[in-house]
Amino acid sequence: MSQQDGIAFCEQLFARYLEGRRLMTNAAHLPGSAIWVKFPPLICKTWTRWAPANGSTVPIVLMGDAAHTAHFSVGSGTKLALEDAIALSGALHRTSDMRTALADYEAERSIEC
Ligand SMILES: Cc1cc2nc3c(=O)[nH]c(=O)nc-3n(C[C@H](O)[C@H](O)[C@H](O)COP(=O)(O)OP(=O)(O)OC[C@H]3O[C@@H](n4cnc5c(N)ncnc54)[C@H](O)[C@@H]3O)c2cc1C
Repeated sequence: MSQQDGIAFCEQLFARYLEGRRLMTNAAHLPGSAIWVKFPPLICKTWTRWAPANGSTVPIVLMGDAAHTAHFSVGSGTKLALEDAIALSGALHRTSDMRTALADYEAERSIEC
């Protein structure tokens, strides 16, 4: 269901407690977008890097709280972490080139956070 339909559904579901008040959404998650709370986001500048291991290099990828934090009062850290995992999985499936996949993942998710 769309965001607006979801809000309308919850307003109807909790109508007896809301007593005519409207619900707000924090769905955008962009810094400063939440109407009722302001908090400083902490976001790593780089989420991927290559590290030497056993004579080769291996990718190290950050996701979830390791890549970015959200204040727990907005209740979104788990959602953001799962969306990171979904985006990384999608990027790895779209191309066999690891460097391209990791760059795509970082570009996609750093905008969301
Ligand atoms: C008080 C509080 C309330 C919150 N309420 C909400 C909420 O209502 N809704 C919501 O969506 N989010 C909430 N969050 C945020 C949410 O818990 C996190 O954003 C989410 O758990 C991040 O997932 P993660 O997998 O990135 O990290 P974590 O869940 O922290 O997982 C990291 C794991 O790595 C392990 N680890 C650490 N170091 C090592 C190591 N060296 N070797 C091996 N393992 C290691 C840790 O033991 C841990 O199991 C809350 C957070 C707090 C603190």
